[in-house]
Amino acid sequence: MWTVVVAAGSGSRVGGEVPKQFLTLGGVRVVDRAVATAAAVSDGVVLVLPPGKWEANELATRVVAGGATRSASVRAGLAAVPETAEVVVVHDAARPLASAGLFERVVSAVLAGADAAVPGLESADTLKEVDPGGTVVATLPRERVVAVQTPQAFKASVLREAHRGEPEFTDDAAAVEAIGCRVVVVPGERLNLKITVPEDLRVAECLVS
Ligand code: C5P
Repeated sequence: MWTVVVAAGSGSRVGGEVPKQFLTLGGVRVVDRAVATAAAVSDGVVLVLPPGKWEANELATRVVAGGATRSASVRAGLAAVPETAEVVVVHDAARPLASAGLFERVVSAVLAGADAAVPGLESADTLKEVDPGGTVVATLPRERVVAVQTPQAFKASVLREAHRGEPEFTDDAAAVEAIGCRVVVVPGERLNLKITVPEDLRVAECLVS
């Protein structure tokens, strides 16, 4: 099993010069936390970095330059995964607190027969669909909606096929769904925060301290 850690985004919503995945959390870069967990459970890790100036992590087996979008960065990483790998996990560098157990849970679901497995969380909040003007269109049935995280695990052949036409999605499971394959949801982790805005980093600092 190989993991692709995508860390080539500009992280603009956090603000500042340094993309969020290169900020430190408890003295360790966000990306390094994600790579360390991936390396502990994978045969190899491909780290996808912005072209140029950012330092890699010594635990990464291979380091490649990313693309203009998340999907393009995943494709760059996937191209560096050996053809012999049967399962590929894709993980956002912006999620530094995913546990090794979560990686194992998604991988186990794929080894048990799913094409793909993603961690999902039920919402504690009531969920509304809104129009672009902010007016509520509908209240969604909460028990049928999950918020999906990474790491996401895939049969390698399915992930390669899903990315063949260079689709653009916010996660890889969506690309796999689009080719009609079966994606299962396993329990996600509340503490597996995605560092997106400055408040997320402050919460994560409390969690690691
Ligand atoms: O922008 P967003 O938070 O959805 O990014 C999710 C992950 O994808 C982050 O770890 C980010 O670094 C990565 N990404 C990437 N290449 C891009 C855009 C995002 O590797 N062009």
